[in-house]
Amino acid sequence: MRDAPDRALTRPRRRGLAALATVVVLAALGAVSLLSIMPPAARGTTAPAGAFSAGRAFQHVEKIAAEPHVVGSAAQGPVRAYLLSTLRGLGLAPEVQDTVSVQGGALSSSAGGVNLAHVQNVVTRIPGTASTGRIFLVAHYDSVETGPGGNDDAAGVSTILEVARALTAGPRLRNDVVLVLTDGEEACLCGAQAFVDQNPLARTRGVVLNLESRGSSGPAIMFETSKDNAKLIDLYARTPKPVGTSFAVEVYRRLPNETDFTPFREAGFAGLNTAYIDGAAVYHSATDLPAAMDRDSLQHHGENALALARSLGGIDLATIKASGDSTYFPVPGGQFGYPGWLVWPLAVLALLAVLALAALARRRGLANGGRLVGAFVLTVVPILAAPVLAQAFWLLLCTIRPGYRELPIDPYRPLWYRLAVIAITAAVVFGWYALFRRRIGPAAMAIGGLGWLAVLGVALAALAPGGSYLTALPALAGALTGLVAILLRGGWGAVLAVTIGAAVAVVVLLPMIILFFPALGLALAATGGFITVLLGLALLPIVDLIHPEAGGQRGLTALRARRRGLTPFLLAVLAAVAFGAVGLRVDTFDVAHPAPTRLMYALDVTTGQARWLSAETSPQKWTAQYVAGVARPVTDILPVFGPQKLLTGPATAAPLAAPQVTVVSDTRSGDSRQLRLLVRPQRPVRLLALHVGADVTVTAATVGGRDVPVGQLAGGGWGFGFVFHAPPAAGLDVALTVRTTGPVRLRVMDASEGLATLPGFRPRPPGVGSVGSHTSDLCAVAQTDTI
Ligand SMILES: [Zn+2]
Repeated sequence: MRDAPDRALTRPRRRGLAALATVVVLAALGAVSLLSIMPPAARGTTAPAGAFSAGRAFQHVEKIAAEPHVVGSAAQGPVRAYLLSTLRGLGLAPEVQDTVSVQGGALSSSAGGVNLAHVQNVVTRIPGTASTGRIFLVAHYDSVETGPGGNDDAAGVSTILEVARALTAGPRLRNDVVLVLTDGEEACLCGAQAFVDQNPLARTRGVVLNLESRGSSGPAIMFETSKDNAKLIDLYARTPKPVGTSFAVEVYRRLPNETDFTPFREAGFAGLNTAYIDGAAVYHSATDLPAAMDRDSLQHHGENALALARSLGGIDLATIKASGDSTYFPVPGGQFGYPGWLVWPLAVLALLAVLALAALARRRGLANGGRLVGAFVLTVVPILAAPVLAQAFWLLLCTIRPGYRELPIDPYRPLWYRLAVIAITAAVVFGWYALFRRRIGPAAMAIGGLGWLAVLGVALAALAPGGSYLTALPALAGALTGLVAILLRGGWGAVLAVTIGAAVAVVVLLPMIILFFPALGLALAATGGFITVLLGLALLPIVDLIHPEAGGQRGLTALRARRRGLTPFLLAVLAAVAFGAVGLRVDTFDVAHPAPTRLMYALDVTTGQARWLSAETSPQKWTAQYVAGVARPVTDILPVFGPQKLLTGPATAAPLAAPQVTVVSDTRSGDSRQLRLLVRPQRPVRLLALHVGADVTVTAATVGGRDVPVGQLAGGGWGFGFVFHAPPAAGLDVALTVRTTGPVRLRVMDASEGLATLPGFRPRPPGVGSVGSHTSDLCAVAQTDTI
């Protein structure tokens, strides 16, 4: 047999026409795929009573998110009153669950420790006719201190109010629906924890639908489920517009992020967690205004939540926990899914199909063993180069515009940069293809790409089963249609076959690319580049069609063909540069899109010294007025920050008093002391923290009447400690049992919002804002007491 390894899977006679036809078909399919994951159009206030209306829900958003209303703040009172009166207006009997709750976590993302909060959840039940269990609609009505929370989470709360209106306007459901509007989510998930631990309505557990936002736009993505989700996924698939993928569940499980869903899930509730996440630049910041909201996202939230409440409201909830997790993902017109036990068979089948394709290609003389192995090895190049270059692109943007470093994950207008990352990936694939196509051969390269998709499918089946479909299905489809293409001997039938294979890849991977960019952001542009390159590998038989036919040419013709082969690469490079340049021009910082900066103030009353602190990695111009030098831990003055490193600079001491510690009682027995303390802030504060010197072991602690775990230590000379959000003005009761007969060192700290009244602070100029984080613009006052 003659070895002709430079032959492709398709060799249509009119190559240009075939290329054009496949590109048009795939582009059209891509457009349909994208449209099917876009949120539905918002409905106005005149929508029928039984329907969800974003127009009506938005009226609640404007009331709830008029200003920041952090847990325990004065601004929260009117919001709570509004929720209660709205629910009473629906004929319901809401109650306030007023309590103290304990959660893990800490003020700083890197510090260990315990969080407590005084929370006031708003809870009410819509009774069912013959309830088989309870459905819980959950959203948090507190905001961060740095913004009004128009999206996070006035959107979720308003959605629940509008869903409750629609439910109470229609026939009663079989099952109880409990509305849980939690408090203190931003501080510590403490409201949700309090509901799960202490509310009688939670005792029998049930099914939770949690509604969140981490941005201002995009589809409402169902991104987290309880374990054994098969039955829930069936119900979710029947919502008006399901946008969820089992891969998101796997990704989210590996991220440190948490929502109110976490305490419910950990307590054994079943359920689904949904959020819209695009437009993340406003997340937790002063720009998270009602006006920033895309009301289509609100409509999406509401339509799906209402449909789920109705479907869950009518079934026997005892049957909800099926065995196993489903694999599922959006397809045009709905959601496709299959049971989890099919993950391994499909992954193995895909691998076998690719091996069969390689064997047939070899037998038919399209590729020899050496070239197939070579193609597989060389495919590592784009798989690595695309993510590396995508990340380098973002680092370049951060160098040009340093404020980008402090944005949550994305700039205000990320579209052009996302397109640039896609163009960079395309350039990598086109360039690599043009470089090796003649030496390795088109068939071998296409098979090498499918080989990697199949191998990744197997790896994912082992590591993250819900994500295996992403590469296993395109590999399987590509291999089967490749076999058909070879059997049809490369003509128009073969073109049709590989187009069908590519179509499967587009349907499976394109929505994921579109959902992935906002999920992890340009800050992790490498992940966007990686997932995009997977689609590129699946499309190699199509990529080949836009190149001149391989092989056969000699001399000048060959040279010309090779030059023409570089055209797609050059066009992609040009597109990447153009998209990047347009992005830089379009996405500038201004008053409505301020550059976020980080600044805190800490006063140590014991030493009389004050410091400016910043968590910026390299300070921006405004921040550099206050801090300089090398970042280092600040546990000596603020144990709550744990190992987190901060930049510091000298500040003028303000006339502020630290919280006052009063010893209520002090009993000694053997080698231990039992201390009862009253810790009272001397000014209006958002939080109070107390840490005990590391030289003393705390064996038991009760704070605000709640037992607190004593295992986690702060570091930097400090041991056990806690943060209490929304502390009572009259003082916080703290009982400690410590193993010592000697003195006990205590570090007490409180913190309030805003730096404006501090000596030496100059207001931010227009276009400079503050980062939406729990430590932004924090004014901390601390002191060491020895008792
Ligand atoms: Zn939040």
